[in-house]
Amino acid sequence: MIEIDERIAVTNSEEQFEAYCSGCKRMTEMATPKTAGVLTEISEREVFRLIESKEIHFIENARVLVCVASLRELKADSNTASE
Ligand SMILES: [Zn+2]
Repeated sequence: MIEIDERIAVTNSEEQFEAYCSGCKRMTEMATPKTAGVLTEISEREVFRLIESKEIHFIENARVLVCVASLRELKADSNTASE
């Protein structure tokens, strides 16, 4: 049972996990643009646009990971600013 749980945890951590965000200056929820988009109901394309315009926090290593907290804040701020 424990082994199965660990395998599920590992699978989840590939898409979403806690990491230090230099924008928030604390540990935050980081996710791939696709997963972060699902979590915040923002399209993946829009998430990439926000990354390019540096409106959200993100870290770029082998792949891009976005700070879900900053994405949520931005969404809360821009209820009336949709295209
Ligand atoms: Zn952040």
